[in-house]
Amino acid sequence: MYEDVPGPQVAEDEVLIEVRACGICGSDVHGMDGSTGRRRPPIIMGHEASGVIAEVGKKVSGWNQGERVTFDSTVYCGSCWFCRRGEINLCDNRRVLGVSCEDYRQHGAFAEYVAVPERILYRLPEALSFERAAMVEAVSVAVHAVERTPFSLGDTAVVVGTGMIGLLVVRALRLAGCGTIIAVDLDAERLELARKFGADVGLKADDCDVLKEVTRRTGGRGADLAMEVVGTSPTVNTALASVRKGGAVTLVGNLKPSIELPLQAVVTRQLSLYGSCASSGEYPACLDFMGCGAIEVEALISATPPLAEGAAWFKRLYDREPGLLKVVLIP
Ligand SMILES: [Zn+2]
Ligand SMILES: [Zn+2]
Repeated sequence: MYEDVPGPQVAEDEVLIEVRACGICGSDVHGMDGSTGRRRPPIIMGHEASGVIAEVGKKVSGWNQGERVTFDSTVYCGSCWFCRRGEINLCDNRRVLGVSCEDYRQHGAFAEYVAVPERILYRLPEALSFERAAMVEAVSVAVHAVERTPFSLGDTAVVVGTGMIGLLVVRALRLAGCGTIIAVDLDAERLELARKFGADVGLKADDCDVLKEVTRRTGGRGADLAMEVVGTSPTVNTALASVRKGGAVTLVGNLKPSIELPLQAVVTRQLSLYGSCASSGEYPACLDFMGCGAIEVEALISATPPLAEGAAWFKRLYDREPGLLKVVLIP
């Protein structure tokens, strides 16, 4: 629904942002049908946005009208046990913008204006457009996952799943100094894109024996690390089986709430499993990478239609139109 609503109230510690771009996230698309219970209407969705400061609250210091900014998709409280350790993604009082669930309703950025607390703001590098800046959440998820994973310069990595986050994981691994990067997917076009993002090899999982290929390229040992960016039993099992003894597997995808896990293999091969959720403090680095072109997100943006056409684009994403990656709406 596209309609006029009253502008948001700006609290003392908040700034009002005139939204210039807001990306449609998978969680918005799946939230729309009510199945997740986290987008209960009425709610203005949208949490991947950028814009210009239009107004600053009384207690806000250090930010001015007219500044180009983006903000964390999560409003963390800043004072709980986890926030005080810097683990803001684990905040006990975490609110995601554009979500309404049992505990709260926090309007998001598919609107002309959105009000957000000062503590979640970040300045945009001059060279970074609003549209590209709206991709920072996706970039931060990938960078955080790579940061969670222990590895050494030159290590071999397998990335299972080359959707948008998977592609950004490939890029982040390349930046972080991985050696050979092997991407695995079912989609030949995505694998081609993965090579552009820095993968050395693209394995089409239904065309070859992935494990045999990985083993062949790693002296018979298996890869040092694997990143799983899908979240189903078969893909997690591919990730687990593709690493060497003592290897690390980071789990980012969570399409399914639970999966089949080969417990004995994990234990006897002494694998380390890491879960990775959202990001905590990586936004400034990601914006720098995006500003200087070290992480180039242009190829991931499929369309930048006006916000008024949002409903039609939500439908296209919901129907899983092939080839559609990120759609960024412009108010
Ligand atoms: Zn998102
Ligand atoms: Zn907190």
